[in-house]
Amino acid sequence: MNSTENQILAGLNQPQKEAVMHFKGPALVLAGAGSGKTRVLTRRIAYLIAEYGVNPGNILAMTFTNKAASEMKERVNKLISEEMRSWVGTFHSFGATLLRREAEKLGFKRNFSIYDTSDQKRMIKEIMQDLNIDTKKTKPSRVLNEISDAKNQLIRPEDYKVEKFNFLSELVSKIYPTYQQRMKESNAFDFDDLIMKPCQLFTEYPRIKEYYNEKYKYILVDEYQDVNHAQYRLSQLLTGIDNNIFVVGDPDQSIYGFRGADINNILNFEKDFADAKVIRLEQNYRSKENILKAAQSVIKNNSSRLDKDLWSDRGEGDSIEFFEAATDKEEAGFIMEEAKKLNRAGEYNYGDMVVLYRTNAQSRSIEDVLRRNQVPYQIVGGLKFYDRKEIKDIVAYLRLINNPADTAALLRIINEPARGIGAKTIERVQDYAYANNISLFQSCLESDHNPELTKAYSSRVIEFAELIEEFQELENEITIDKLVSKILSKTGYESEIISKEGPKAQERLENIGELQSAMREYLQENDDGSLAGFLEEVALIADIDTMEDKNNFITLMTLHSAKGLEFPVVFLAGLDEGLFPHGNSMDDASEIEEERRLCYVGITRAQDKLYILRAKNRFRYGESKYYAPSRFLNEIPDSLINCEDDEDYGTIDIKDKSNNSSINARSSNYKEGQKIIHPSWGIGEIKQVKEDRGTKLTIRFKDGKERELLAEYAPLQPV
Ligand code: ATP
Ligand code: MG
Repeated sequence: MNSTENQILAGLNQPQKEAVMHFKGPALVLAGAGSGKTRVLTRRIAYLIAEYGVNPGNILAMTFTNKAASEMKERVNKLISEEMRSWVGTFHSFGATLLRREAEKLGFKRNFSIYDTSDQKRMIKEIMQDLNIDTKKTKPSRVLNEISDAKNQLIRPEDYKVEKFNFLSELVSKIYPTYQQRMKESNAFDFDDLIMKPCQLFTEYPRIKEYYNEKYKYILVDEYQDVNHAQYRLSQLLTGIDNNIFVVGDPDQSIYGFRGADINNILNFEKDFADAKVIRLEQNYRSKENILKAAQSVIKNNSSRLDKDLWSDRGEGDSIEFFEAATDKEEAGFIMEEAKKLNRAGEYNYGDMVVLYRTNAQSRSIEDVLRRNQVPYQIVGGLKFYDRKEIKDIVAYLRLINNPADTAALLRIINEPARGIGAKTIERVQDYAYANNISLFQSCLESDHNPELTKAYSSRVIEFAELIEEFQELENEITIDKLVSKILSKTGYESEIISKEGPKAQERLENIGELQSAMREYLQENDDGSLAGFLEEVALIADIDTMEDKNNFITLMTLHSAKGLEFPVVFLAGLDEGLFPHGNSMDDASEIEEERRLCYVGITRAQDKLYILRAKNRFRYGESKYYAPSRFLNEIPDSLINCEDDEDYGTIDIKDKSNNSSINARSSNYKEGQKIIHPSWGIGEIKQVKEDRGTKLTIRFKDGKERELLAEYAPLQPV
């Protein structure tokens, strides 16, 4: 063994080594949390380059978050001395890079914009208004979800089928084609397009597919359990005839079902590639034994899963601390006190701690208490930097400068700062664009020909458009951060902030300053430093990426964002029935299973210490509501738990067993053939009653679909 090989294989166990040394052909690493899947994947990249002499440019590795991607890059760079030229990044950034090169084949220009959710909503709302569809009755966001679902299934507008008696699907069948058309006119892609369009490109142009298959000979995917259909297809299309695809994942951690992730993709891998090598890793290197046991005893309640062995030799560790608070405020108080205590004792600092919760709204009460007690914290996925108004405004200017067809950007800033261009004027400019089949920007430039506009108005619009043109010229001469300074002064944006925002002006201008420093960083890292490149980076930033490595801040985030991460100390808050598992999932057995996987993800983030909390009463939607303990609590054996019985915080009674027996009595009343009624799906007939950790009912509803429901929780009425 030479020294690089030694270094790459150092400290790996036998199956991990086998995975790292895997060379050609399909391979699947199927293993539980913390078993080193990500570690194996990154080391394999290094091994391919160093030991098999693979050209780094022939390797493509994809994952879900930018944070995971940059960690991957970092880890590989540590192992490989030569300059890293493999493509490592998120699915979406790969899609964007590919489209940057190939957009013209699809009738787009290379300088396309990437629309975010608010741009999409703006466009959908506009289309609905044009089609006279009431946006109060049907929210644009519902339409957007439906379109997004279709795209994740690779359903194009022309293939979209109207479901009978489904009002929403009828609307979407009208809106979706127009939406796609207008996206094209705006030379813009949405997030789902970044996956769907490359799939389309590879399917329609076999030569392009061949070119990329030749280029990327080795495909690697992390968190494969969470790929949706479109991402699955993309990975398949990218895989050439040699089938050098290497995926790692854990079916027990599939938590994006609501965004179309399909657990079957990982389960079917061996069917897709008959000769796939399957490697299982069984040693968990992350967590103390008690934590791992708790995670396993929860997840084993899922009926549809492959059982896996997972063990740790990190020692038993402390018991899991459970605290039942009287209120959510008290729950927050407990977290604060405990965090302070640990920090004071010196073994852990705040940077080692994370608070995980099911919904973003839960962060507020925790934040309040931490702030009042001067405990430093950072929040992931709250009001994100790039969601702040002033940042979105400046970015919209930049987008329009880069891509004048970008309607969403144009509409955002045409009257920002106020230049006396009101809704009526904008409508007239839009009408002129449609009538003459030109872009909205072109229509602005030609406003003096627009018969609907008086001179006073047309000159304001023209002035705006010419200003943008001026910036376009400037963009070739000065760096992007300086361009922002020009925008601030020439548009009057800065002086408007100062005059309108009063004491808040300082903060807003500081934020813009922060944007400029991000640009300077970008310029340092990227020699070509183009505006398009920077905008792409901004568009692809996911929630998780706002997390900085601040050493002494407690991190607060949702369970969904915590995927793949680890922390010495984890506070799992809100283990209340109706909150976690979430109320929306209560009457669907498969959704409950997804919630349980989320609970498994949460518990397995912990390395040394795990706190589980709940509150009997929570203030939600303006009123105080009582919550029963989460069923997941009952699934953790008593022997692993230590109930915190602090007199300041009230007493504890987690194991609400009486509750369960009454539930069972109720569920045993169901019989096959019996008719019932469900509030959402109407009348149904019970096809099967199964006793399997509670009563499971298979019910056929009048829409023809069979659904498996848990008798205990489904809101059913006999007919
Ligand atoms: P998840 O399912 O949560 O994504 P994972 O399977 O990807 O987890 P990693 O994050 O790769 O697991 O590894 C978990 C932790 O264990 C990391 O801190 C990693 O460095 C460490 N680890 C993995 N393998 C070994 C090993 N052979 N020796 C020592 N530490 C290891
Ligand atoms: Mg991982």
